[in-house]
Amino acid sequence: MALDPTTMLTLSIALAAAAALYLAVEWRNVREPSLLFWSAGFATISVGCVLALLRSSGILIIGIWFANGLLVTAHFLFLLGVARFTEARLSRAWYLIFVVWLGLLFLPDQPWWSKVMLVANSLLITLLMLRASFLLRPHGRSLSEGAVQLRYVLLAHGIFYFAKAVTAVVPGTLIDLAAFRGEIIQISLVEGAIAIMLIALSMTGSERYRREKRIARLAARDPLTALYNRRALEVRAPRLLEDVSADRPGALLLLDIDNFKPVNDLYGHTAGDRLLIALSEMIRAVLPEGSLAARLGGDEFVILLSHASSERILGLCNTLREQFHKAASQGFSTPEPVTLSIGANLFVQPPASLAALIEQSDAALYESKRGGRNSIRLVDHTVATRESLGTT
Ligand code: GH3
Ligand code: MG
Repeated sequence: MALDPTTMLTLSIALAAAAALYLAVEWRNVREPSLLFWSAGFATISVGCVLALLRSSGILIIGIWFANGLLVTAHFLFLLGVARFTEARLSRAWYLIFVVWLGLLFLPDQPWWSKVMLVANSLLITLLMLRASFLLRPHGRSLSEGAVQLRYVLLAHGIFYFAKAVTAVVPGTLIDLAAFRGEIIQISLVEGAIAIMLIALSMTGSERYRREKRIARLAARDPLTALYNRRALEVRAPRLLEDVSADRPGALLLLDIDNFKPVNDLYGHTAGDRLLIALSEMIRAVLPEGSLAARLGGDEFVILLSHASSERILGLCNTLREQFHKAASQGFSTPEPVTLSIGANLFVQPPASLAALIEQSDAALYESKRGGRNSIRLVDHTVATRESLGTT
């Protein structure tokens, strides 16, 4: 099949319509507004290509000015979609693009008419694509990883249109929009069909990547405190435990709030929630780099440390215990003080499973509770003897 303009335009109509439909279905599933803008952009290209076919029937204003205007509109919709995707605000000045396009309607009918139309069209699309690509520049890890393909596809598309504008102003270049004559027009029609596919794929890919990241984040986090949940801890603990050696002992700290139920009973569940969030923030603030913290459930939290020592554990636990006691006593007046009990376990050879490790610290926590609460029990497996350090 020859790559004549009519064939290429027909192909572009089909590809753009398919992309519009695909992105619309994606939008129906996930309701991300960017997908709707992008879908509308491809639908506009499809209509624009249909109108461009009318040139062969001599309907030039609709076949050239209107059709190319729709091409600019489609790229504007792409930019709006990218702005929604990146949560950026677009200046209203971008709407001036349509004023420029309207102005072209009044170009005198001269031999250079086609050139001016093509240069203006190309430069406007270049501007829109460079802006969209700039919005997708890395800022935040998930955006840069997920949108990198879309960013470069839009950048390449913008650069192509810039090259098209430059080539058009070279003296002697043949451009006849009415008859689709001139190499630039031929090349542009081929690039258009390729760009439709690449841009549509990158758009769905970017949205999917971000959605998957979001779902993975939600699945790994405790919804109240945003700390890791037990499952996420189980996934991440093995890597930390692999690093544990005689030189770099590990430690698992199990924390449970003392007399937490009365806070719920006397002040309500929401007040209890606030206290749980406050404790999670304290944990986050003291958490050494490379360690893990999770909420196991209820009022029970776990901290997994690498490069631990009994001094480090006691320092960290006492800080938490004091901060928590202060915050709880300021916020709530209960028959029994609301404090923190901690069971800790320092080891150089972790047991086979995280569950077994938690069980060891649980035994220490139980002792801490039995010993009167508001205390730390540390079982030091790095020395043969069992050390029990109580602080009240
Ligand atoms: P102890 O001193 O022995 O630890 O007793 P406690 O009163 O702290 O109660 P316990 O640890 O045995 O039980 C935890 C309580 O935490 C049970 C439940 O009412 C409450 N709880 C569990 N999950 C939540 C939650 O998400 N929000 C709130 N506000 N309370 C919760
Ligand atoms: Mg408790």
